Amino acid sequence: MNKEQKKQYQGPEVLKEILHRELYGKKFALSCGHHITFGATLGNDLTVRNGKELSVICAQCGY
Ligand SMILES: [Zn+2]
Repeated sequence: MNKEQKKQYQGPEVLKEILHRELYGKKFALSCGHHITFGATLGNDLTVRNGKELSVICAQCGY
């Protein structure tokens, strides 16, 4: 990756802030059939399969 390409990437704190702002406290059913509540203690973790179509499943089903 060259210097110009590197500049296109925002830091992990930006991604974290977006996720926190948009998702904190919200509940979703996932593609795998499990559920997630963002910000819940010991809540499910997520796996996002990247590509033309995103698929969002829990981390357990993501292994
Ligand atoms: Zn699952």
